[in-house]
Amino acid sequence: MRLDAKIPAGPLAEKWDRHRFELKLVNPANKRKFEIIVVGTGLAGGSASASLAELGYNVKTFCIQDSPRRAHSIAAQGGINASKNYQNDGDSDWRLFYDTVKGGDFRAREANVYRLAQLSGNIIDQCVAQGVPFAREYGGQLANRSFGGAQVSRTFYARGQTGQQLLLGAYSALSRQIAAGKVTMYPRREMLDMVVVDGQAKGIVVRNLVTGGIEKYAADAVVLATGGYANVFFLSTNAMASNVTAAYRAYKKGACFANPCFTQIHPTCIPVHGAYQSKLTLMSESLRNDGRVWVPKKPGDKRSPSQITESERDYYLENKYPSFGNLVPRDVASRNAKEQCDTGKGVGETGLAVYLDFSDAIKRDGKEVIAKKYGNLFQMYEKITADNPYETPMMIYPAVHYTMGGLWVDYNLMSTIDGLFVLGEANFSDHGANRLGASALMQGLADGYFIIPYTIGGYLAGNTKKNVTTEHPAFNESLAQIDSQVKRLLSIKGKRTVDDFHRQLGNILWEYCGMSRNDAGLEKARGLIKDLRGEFWENVLVPGSGSDFNQSLERAGRVADFLEFGELLVIDALARRESCGGHFNEGYQTEENEAKRDDENFCHVSAWEYTGYEKEPLQNREPLVFENVKLSQRSYK
Ligand SMILES: Cc1cc2nc3c(=O)[nH]c(=O)nc-3n(C[C@H](O)[C@H](O)[C@H](O)COP(=O)(O)OP(=O)(O)OC[C@H]3O[C@@H](n4cnc5c(N)ncnc54)[C@H](O)[C@@H]3O)c2cc1C
Repeated sequence: MRLDAKIPAGPLAEKWDRHRFELKLVNPANKRKFEIIVVGTGLAGGSASASLAELGYNVKTFCIQDSPRRAHSIAAQGGINASKNYQNDGDSDWRLFYDTVKGGDFRAREANVYRLAQLSGNIIDQCVAQGVPFAREYGGQLANRSFGGAQVSRTFYARGQTGQQLLLGAYSALSRQIAAGKVTMYPRREMLDMVVVDGQAKGIVVRNLVTGGIEKYAADAVVLATGGYANVFFLSTNAMASNVTAAYRAYKKGACFANPCFTQIHPTCIPVHGAYQSKLTLMSESLRNDGRVWVPKKPGDKRSPSQITESERDYYLENKYPSFGNLVPRDVASRNAKEQCDTGKGVGETGLAVYLDFSDAIKRDGKEVIAKKYGNLFQMYEKITADNPYETPMMIYPAVHYTMGGLWVDYNLMSTIDGLFVLGEANFSDHGANRLGASALMQGLADGYFIIPYTIGGYLAGNTKKNVTTEHPAFNESLAQIDSQVKRLLSIKGKRTVDDFHRQLGNILWEYCGMSRNDAGLEKARGLIKDLRGEFWENVLVPGSGSDFNQSLERAGRVADFLEFGELLVIDALARRESCGGHFNEGYQTEENEAKRDDENFCHVSAWEYTGYEKEPLQNREPLVFENVKLSQRSYK
């Protein structure tokens, strides 16, 4: 397959304007003739649905939750980046662009990232106009704080609830369109297949999660905004319902899956505390603005933190990376935490934790100031751990958090299936091998509010309208296939629960394809996943029926996809014979144990093509061409 990224010609800073001018337009009176399906109501899908309906298209929007505003985006804590330069500290579109490309270890597409930086300011204006209560300075201007991988303060925030406030903004815009009759909302529906007719996306098939009914919906274009797949690792900071199913089933219908092995492990999470835990909790990266990360210098030192004197502590990030200190990017901070714990300096009962200490900040700024910035996060930490972080350092450890990989999209955010667009965390587009903090919200909203409204118009205007209805045989084929999978899952009546399989898959991936990887481990993981998949289809226990509300059945379908997708993730990790960002293969590291890229042979996107069940996927490559930044060894020293 030839991957054409459709990057517009011309100077980087002019590409998007030029492209918008060159894109064909749909006449306002004709927009009402088009039907668009949007799957997902997080920041990407919510903003896209509202914006497309506002333009006049007829939109059908689907989500798993009972309300669109329960999408996973609501959990986002720390903030959203924008190059407004309110701080006057040297920020610009170029700097945000450069930081993002460098943060992603030079494995993202220049043109997309530059556009993202250009649009970042518009997002803040749009959200302020909606009434999103961003934190403000005394004088009324919006406040900013710093996030990892940047030396400027460009992160806009609403305490530790930025995602919730932004989502309420998008949800209000969406609700206005629901009331106006331009968006028909379908909550409690799970997309289980993508319908492709003559090479074009023409609809979806969903399961009604309340009645169990299988339903078909047709449209002129389909937008997937179904979030990330971090839950393939079982334990992650993502919402329980986050999954890969929609993206994976689109992959099976011809959408290439890009860089699946680029997963992000966030350094600042509450450590795992037991074998039966089902969720991990993020402690926002914003905390590293004021918290100092340290471990005891002496391995095995089990004294309480207050007994360990200043000279006996190792502030390892500040010492090793003096320029960025505690605000190094996530991949770097996570690997360093692991390194400290591997050498026996980890703290807490398990030895798999490091301290994040606010005592200096409280001494400097006072408890009240720290509480204003992070009060809800401190409260959450105390509720979970029964430790008061105002008095004793937090304990943190890396956890799976975000996925940079996703369905391959071109500059228009269109996948390798015509008419299938992919937005937000579900696509692979902007973050390369490592996403910088506060950039996911920025990307999701740029995609939904400011990119898809133009590019989908270009697609629809350039296509002769074909009226495919749900009576087309392709819909019935999908329906029959889903029905038979549901029946098969219910008929196995084995001995192991769905969660038991999921947990084992997560353990395999964490062990062999987690913070660091090596070829032998990856080969082993592949075999283990294949075996587990085999056992799943013989021994899984899915109680209940298909014609009713049945959460075990819902989860079984998602885990079945994770069991196939997990192998693809490992295959991708094996094929990328370098280390970059979140993909750290121990065979490729510098003398200082940093990720060592191979720009000559791996400066590309790997976009995998489905060839059939249990068959080797086909690798396609999109070369990454850097005309505006010089590729260099990333350094945060
Ligand atoms: C704890 C936490 C804190 C974070 N904090 C920040 C932060 O401070 N700043 C930042 O930039 N990023 C942050 N992130 C990352 C960011 O929140 C996400 O990347 C982003 O919100 C994803 O948005 P989305 O719209 O792409 O997808 P989501 O918000 O995940 O929405 C996915 C939608 O798709 C629907 N869906 C999924 N599958 C199906 C299906 N098969 N059928 C029907 N519907 C389906 C779901 O119901 C949901 O509506 C954080 C992430 C976590 C986990």
